[in-house]
Amino acid sequence: MPDRHVDYLLVGGGLAASSCAGALRDGGADGEILIVGRELDLPYDRTPCSKGYLTGKRTREEVLLHPADWYSDRGIEALTRTSVMKLDPSERRATLSNKQQVSFRHAMLATGANVRRLNVEGSELDGIHYLRTLGNSDAIREDASGRRVVLIGGSYIGTEVAASLTELGAQCTILMLEPVVHSRGFGEQAGRFFQSVLEDHGIVVHGGEELDRFEGADGRVTHVVAKSGLRLAADAVVIGAGAVPDVMLARGAGLTLGDSGGIKVDSRLRTSVPEIYAAGDVAQYDSVVHGRSLRIEHWDVAHNQGRTVAANLLGKDRPHDVVPYFFSDLSDWTSLEYLGPAQEWDREVVRGSFDEGAFTVYYLSGERLVATLTVGRSEDLMAARELIVSGETVDLSAL
Ligand SMILES: Cc1cc2nc3c(=O)[nH]c(=O)nc-3n(C[C@H](O)[C@H](O)[C@H](O)COP(=O)(O)OP(=O)(O)OC[C@H]3O[C@@H](n4cnc5c(N)ncnc54)[C@H](O)[C@@H]3O)c2cc1C
Repeated sequence: MPDRHVDYLLVGGGLAASSCAGALRDGGADGEILIVGRELDLPYDRTPCSKGYLTGKRTREEVLLHPADWYSDRGIEALTRTSVMKLDPSERRATLSNKQQVSFRHAMLATGANVRRLNVEGSELDGIHYLRTLGNSDAIREDASGRRVVLIGGSYIGTEVAASLTELGAQCTILMLEPVVHSRGFGEQAGRFFQSVLEDHGIVVHGGEELDRFEGADGRVTHVVAKSGLRLAADAVVIGAGAVPDVMLARGAGLTLGDSGGIKVDSRLRTSVPEIYAAGDVAQYDSVVHGRSLRIEHWDVAHNQGRTVAANLLGKDRPHDVVPYFFSDLSDWTSLEYLGPAQEWDREVVRGSFDEGAFTVYYLSGERLVATLTVGRSEDLMAARELIVSGETVDLSAL
């Protein structure tokens, strides 16, 4: 016999779970809602971990998505420091780390992602950090402030952390495979803009370099060595090498996984087991906007997918049709916004000026708009969103 029964079991105490719970109540759900999360804190915003929380401008309370009474006022129970250890889809039952057995009517898995770890010589040395949680951010601030720091990776974690640590007096160097920062996602011309902003603030960037190993003394990292022989002195290292979906629970429950490694869900965000949904970083969904299956790690996607799941649990039969939106800040030096993601593109059309730090890049595949990046021209995103959804041929003069 289960110890208790809930109507909605939301596994994972992050953004998607919290958004789903709120949207369920706002939409009139009147059953018991239980969020189970294994972290120390109530659901929080992860994005300041590399920005304002890392620099100390924002406190732990300020980055919570909602204060404790938001949950109690809505009759939502949010467990922290508790894992779902096992999920039995046929019995609709979950086993928690506190030994409780919980039966459920509906469930959503929003277990997020874990950092991708690099397994090179010296990886075990002290002073080498990854960043996913508030605790990781605390450890980096403590260890790296005012020191020589090497960032591995030129995407948003590497660049944002370099900017934030520079604010804290660190001397930062980025080492990455790409020729210029952000070039994988946004192409080289936009990448050069972001790299010049970093370099103008004293950050050194080494592109086209592959990490070979870490060297240390007395158990602590002292150098980062690239395959080319480049050897950088480092008092601390932060690795931003991407993330892998956390599918441990889903795999154990026999849910179908997608080719990206995430939990495979349809356009309604339903998994291979009826009445179990998945959302956020862990979900690979059939995008009706893109006509292909996607797994995306963006704040806005986790938030909106949590809401789509709630709508479907309330019987709305709603496809997830929101164009994924991403933002990133480099300290208060510059910010970017992006609609996409583009798998590939053959042309970039630029409006505005890189020199003035206010521009929009339109990414075209044939005559169709597939993505748009902007710095300082948010208003351009409205029309871009419509063009991406409609798939219409783009009139270049109108852009
Ligand atoms: C440092 C950092 C900076 C970021 N900055 C940006 C940004 O600027 N812009 C942007 O768009 N996106 C950004 N992101 C991405 C964004 O934060 C994520 O896409 C979003 O948090 C995903 O939400 P989620 O609910 O899917 O997963 P998560 O927020 O990862 O939540 C999942 C939770 O589930 C828990 N969990 C896993 N398994 C279990 C289990 N079995 N039982 C109980 N709990 C479990 C995990 O511990 C975790 O707490 C950033 C991410 C990081 C790490």
